[in-house]
Amino acid sequence: MNSGLNNPDVQKDLVEFIKTGSSFIIAGHKEPDGDCVGSQLALRSALLRLGKETAVCSAGPYKRTELYDFVKQFCEIPENFDSLFKQKDDIRVIIVDCSGRERTGELHDLLKKYPYAIIDHHAAVTHPPSTAEAPVYIEATSPSCTLLIFKLIKALGMELTQEEAELLLFGLCTDTGFFRHMTEKNSYAFNAAAEMIHYGASPKKIFNIINGGKSLNSRKLIGNILARTESYYDGRLLVSCEKLEEYSIFGFESRDSDSLNQMMLSIKGVEATIIIRQESADNCTVSLRSTDKINVAEIAASFNGGGHKNAAGLSIKGDISSVKQILLKSFSNYLGN
Ligand code: AMP
Ligand code: MN
Ligand code: MN
Repeated sequence: MNSGLNNPDVQKDLVEFIKTGSSFIIAGHKEPDGDCVGSQLALRSALLRLGKETAVCSAGPYKRTELYDFVKQFCEIPENFDSLFKQKDDIRVIIVDCSGRERTGELHDLLKKYPYAIIDHHAAVTHPPSTAEAPVYIEATSPSCTLLIFKLIKALGMELTQEEAELLLFGLCTDTGFFRHMTEKNSYAFNAAAEMIHYGASPKKIFNIINGGKSLNSRKLIGNILARTESYYDGRLLVSCEKLEEYSIFGFESRDSDSLNQMMLSIKGVEATIIIRQESADNCTVSLRSTDKINVAEIAASFNGGGHKNAAGLSIKGDISSVKQILLKSFSNYLGN
């Protein structure tokens, strides 16, 4: 079995894995985003059309309001996945939008006993899978995981339904910041988007799902975080944070990292941004973004996180001030003289 990196044969392995199976668990990374959820639900729809049994699940937590309607279709995490299927003798797992079972959070232990396949587009594979029995399909240059699901549905010889087209475009728009992060290298993705629109996906509707419906509190929270932004290296690096008490006042629902990161990145001279969120007394999550050269996935990977060259994240023990010092030290390798 090959490694899967940019290898078209993997699609064949994956098609085989799907065609020969009867029951599938479709899982994604914890703290799912629109690309993860869109990939899971579009794949489920295609598998249902092929007559497969499916269960779609995630460890959560669901921090993004635009996902709430979609995740209603997810199953509760059972004590034993076998209980969800009529055909229990050949249950297979497909993990999307992350490169290892570890990123599936609390699902990890429950999924261990099943053969699995991976479909992902992340560059930094922190825990390379050691599967001899299942396909690993990773295209690190793909702007979204839904684009790989799009290719897979075609490789299965199927046409898109309108629902699948909408879910796939939803993921593509999420991960590309509504095409903002695309370059001249991504013409394939625009062709694919045109095809999704042809099958009935509306960019306007998707824009409103992703960017509309926010609470006033969410704008106030962005205001707070922007107001405490600190500048380092003459404005080349910006750092801000969300405090634990804000999390209890505003809740998950008010988090809107895309708008916040976009505002910080739009400031003249900025090369990278750090947002540290105190999630509990001794744990923080961190969002890293860069405008161009700095590879934040590399920095995130050094803390067991991951992501893409210009957008990455990690989870780390400590409080905001200690985490800030650790990250500033890491960035000094990239920004220091
Ligand atoms: P975020 O800053 O949470 O929007 O995440 C940006 C990118 O980094 C996304 O592609 C995430 O999947 C990835 N990412 C975030 N946190 C982690 C983590 N703890 N481990 C691996 N990848 C992560
Ligand atoms: Mn993704
Ligand atoms: Mn994702």
